[in-house]
Amino acid sequence: MAAYLSVLKPGDTILGMALSEGGHLTHGSKVSFSGKIFQSYAYGLNPETELIDYDAVQKLAEECRPRMLVVGASAYSRIIDFERFKHIADSVGAYVLVDIAHISGLVVTGLHPSPVPYADFVTTTTHKTLRGPRAGMVMCKAEHANAVDKIIFPGLQGGPLMHVIAAKAVAFQEALAPEFKAYQQQVLANAKALAQGFIERDYHVVSGGTDTHLFLMNLNSKGVTGKDAESALDASGIILNKNAVPHDERPPAVTSGVRIGTPIVTTRGMGLAEMSQLVAWIDEVIQHSTDRRLHRRIAKDVKALCGRFPIFQTSPLTSA
Ligand SMILES: *Cc1c(COP(=O)(O)O)cnc(C)c1O
Repeated sequence: MAAYLSVLKPGDTILGMALSEGGHLTHGSKVSFSGKIFQSYAYGLNPETELIDYDAVQKLAEECRPRMLVVGASAYSRIIDFERFKHIADSVGAYVLVDIAHISGLVVTGLHPSPVPYADFVTTTTHKTLRGPRAGMVMCKAEHANAVDKIIFPGLQGGPLMHVIAAKAVAFQEALAPEFKAYQQQVLANAKALAQGFIERDYHVVSGGTDTHLFLMNLNSKGVTGKDAESALDASGIILNKNAVPHDERPPAVTSGVRIGTPIVTTRGMGLAEMSQLVAWIDEVIQHSTDRRLHRRIAKDVKALCGRFPIFQTSPLTSA
């Protein structure tokens, strides 16, 4: 909100990635403040490649002439070409806001290109791959700094949450340590191994793989909805979320897919051997999504695995 309202007025036009194609609610969805306050338009994926269709973004930008181009996603597994977005924005005179909420841990360790050279504003949460407290952050070019400060206070917030600010400082210090880069590299290696394992079992991994910490699977060919897969896996001790897949025909409360990410299992110290075990379990559950006895059996095995990888032993805080 601060990034938007520092330079935009209600009624201005924004162009962001469609929620249904991997974007975030706050990038112009009609149910979010961003779609209510602003005139919002949405871009999406090439249906063949399931990658962002940059040519279509250019065309749409020329048609709707946004004052701000919003870049970033919640369910997109590939490298985003920030330079290309900057060219598109420049061609129509739009500001660029890049929201790296999901990938900020990868960006700060150099494992995903940085948007900083190309963006007027970069926003992020601090609780996803950055592995800090539930909070957020706005960065901007110096020329926007005063406007951002003013819209934060008195525009949007009251007093600061000093306990959360302190927790962010701890997270940033952890992110500067060499161990944090090693962690992010393992997050990526684990995500690639998981995606590859599913591809070998004939699953439709959206876009055919991943460059990040997550990926989507379209379960249409497996005869199970996202909702049913989520609840069968939940009963099996494996927590992930149902997710709309590109051009999903099911409603958002059902969906045809799931989203899988590796930051948490990697924090517990799991590696490639455990990823292949996870593929086997998830595949078994999806193939037998109504077999409650099987789910209970796998839940016991999952608990035993987690017992071998307790969360606190691998925390960078204990090694610092
Ligand atoms: C998660 C996320 C946010 C913030 O959502 P929270 O509900 O605060 O976690 C913002 N933008 C993007 C792209 C996200 O993925």
